Amino acid sequence: MIAPAPSFLCSALLPVPHGFTTREGGVSEGVHASLNLGFAVGDARERVEENHRRLAARVGVELGALHTVKQVHGDRVLEAEEGGGDSLRPTEGEADGVWTERPGHWVGVGTADCVPVLLVDPDRRRVAAIHSGWKGTDARIVARAVEALVARGSRADRLLAAVGPCIQRCCYVVSEDLGERFTARFGPEVIHREGAEVRLNLSLAVSRTLRDAGLVAERVDVLPECTACDAHRFFSHRRDAGRTGRHLNFVVNRF
Ligand SMILES: [Zn+2]
Repeated sequence: MIAPAPSFLCSALLPVPHGFTTREGGVSEGVHASLNLGFAVGDARERVEENHRRLAARVGVELGALHTVKQVHGDRVLEAEEGGGDSLRPTEGEADGVWTERPGHWVGVGTADCVPVLLVDPDRRRVAAIHSGWKGTDARIVARAVEALVARGSRADRLLAAVGPCIQRCCYVVSEDLGERFTARFGPEVIHREGAEVRLNLSLAVSRTLRDAGLVAERVDVLPECTACDAHRFFSHRRDAGRTGRHLNFVVNRF
């Protein structure tokens, strides 16, 4: 029997190979079944490596040209170092965003409910991947990523962005305090009240931050999928009470 290939969602907006992986098409088992791409979630390392190998083969990229970061829910964005070959590289360091302009290289961030964002500069031929949970969103990490690219000559109004699957407002109940904080920072539209419950629309806060950073509306795509709603396709930290896998949200610098 031929094992199914890793599956991932894409945005029609991005002109380069990229994807937001689902949980289908890997070799992990149990709560990590099957395409777990996170090393720090209690899964067997060989399986997580095999999942990465399958993904690299499916996308047609070198495993050693993947750049990731040790995610810490901050607002730091790093430029990827050199790389290549058949082995996974260590992370680039503690950060929640990573970008590269090296041809054929790819960058990725792990998520299980947090918002993954992919940025592409089609002019300067650069790509970035950003992890934006509520802390990173509050710290406007996607704006830090745009600033990092602009500081190196990119134009914000030329950037393309895809905001990937995350926990959506249907499932993201937050505290009154957090709701008030996000209302003050991003506007009342990011909060929805149902009875005593406060629900947060994190991907709307992220897309607004991208607009504030200079991106134009037609160049920002927001995927509607909710990671917490769909247990068949997605890992969800909240739904699975922390015992779950990680998706890899990746973009390849290949034009
Ligand atoms: Zn939901």
